[in-house]
Amino acid sequence: MREVFVNQDHARVGFYKSVLDDAGIPNFIRNQYANNITEMPSAVFFPALCVVNDDDYDRAMHILGEIYYAPPSQAAEWRCPCCNEEVPGNFDSCWNCGALRTVSTVNSDEPGNT
Ligand SMILES: [Zn+2]
Repeated sequence: MREVFVNQDHARVGFYKSVLDDAGIPNFIRNQYANNITEMPSAVFFPALCVVNDDDYDRAMHILGEIYYAPPSQAAEWRCPCCNEEVPGNFDSCWNCGALRTVSTVNSDEPGNT
């Protein structure tokens, strides 16, 4: 058993697990629900994606590395409707004020552009 990815983002860990599942690599997630037991989670309690067989470690890291470093397909920046800050496309909420992303991200016809 060997850890290949540890992150507080359960969704991301779960996604990576599905990728390894598709690749036929035996794997499991440790600490999957441990975040519920503390209000101040430490790295110890973050969900950890592990491969069952150490021999699969290199292949798993290679597969996940390709995903991790691949450019996001929907990475267009969007402008926050509340504070007007530009926010990277991989953010679902404004880094500045925390407002949620709106649906209308691209508007080629900008009114009032004098
Ligand atoms: Zn904002």
